[in-house]
Amino acid sequence: MQLIASIAQMQSLALALKQQGKHIAFVPTMGFLHEGHASLLREGRRRGDLLVLSIFVNPIQFGANEDLERYPRDMERDCRIAAECGVDIVFTPAAAAMYPAGFQTSISVRELTRPLCGASRPGHFDGVATVVGKLFNIVQPDLALFGTKDYQQLAVIRRMTADLSMPVTVVGMPIVREADGLAMSSRNAYLSPDERQSALCLYRAINAVRAMYTAGERSVALLLDSAQAIIRQEPAAEIDYLEFRDGETLETAATAVDGTLLAMAVKIGKTRLIDNTLLGKEL
Ligand code: AMP
Repeated sequence: MQLIASIAQMQSLALALKQQGKHIAFVPTMGFLHEGHASLLREGRRRGDLLVLSIFVNPIQFGANEDLERYPRDMERDCRIAAECGVDIVFTPAAAAMYPAGFQTSISVRELTRPLCGASRPGHFDGVATVVGKLFNIVQPDLALFGTKDYQQLAVIRRMTADLSMPVTVVGMPIVREADGLAMSSRNAYLSPDERQSALCLYRAINAVRAMYTAGERSVALLLDSAQAIIRQEPAAEIDYLEFRDGETLETAATAVDGTLLAMAVKIGKTRLIDNTLLGKEL
């Protein structure tokens, strides 16, 4: 496994490999890897000749009062997991190299970024689209893998890739959960033991809604009431958003149908967690 920090070196290596006809699979991350990341890496390993993992805590996708400075980092452990997953290249650019003085270009996906996390985190998805677009140009992937845990992010990347005719196949992968249902996230490391317990309310709400839907309930208002009630039972939890939306367009859903997205962001203490599910689809 090779570690590369230089953008120029990564790009020239990728271009040379492509010339040899190699198919590059790419998993962009912010590091502090867990089993969710590993599932993306293993699928990338299966589908590509060459597997590239990027670890970059992207400053331009964090708001002024967010957790950029304290975002968890452990490069040694990440490299161990990467090696276990068969990664060929770990790309770890420096922020100053990614955004040198004079940098002024942004990719903005308009409609898909208005609701949900886009509304709570202004500018977040411009930062995500810009860095992913830039990483695609550096790494030259044929295939890029993303988790549906970040459902809106995946929709934004798919849209950007199609709109800008990027020659990359975007693959969405299922949410990997802890044994008790909590969606894996690097940010789970912020949770105290009590908060870790409280955080289960997200999954409880998802399961309650899924059960009601399976039993035939189609009223968004009633499904919403039930999910909100479950989360409000947790004193440490504060709903940022909890919404039903069309799984493709992310427009507000009038009634629940197969493929309707339930998406939520909930603060547990100071930690903001997201989770989601598609009704009528497998968990
Ligand atoms: P992050 O390091 O949080 O930026 O995540 C990097 C990639 O891993 C993104 O495509 C995420 O959607 C994906 N990911 C994060 N958590 C999970 C999870 N629990 N299950 C599946 N994919 C995940």
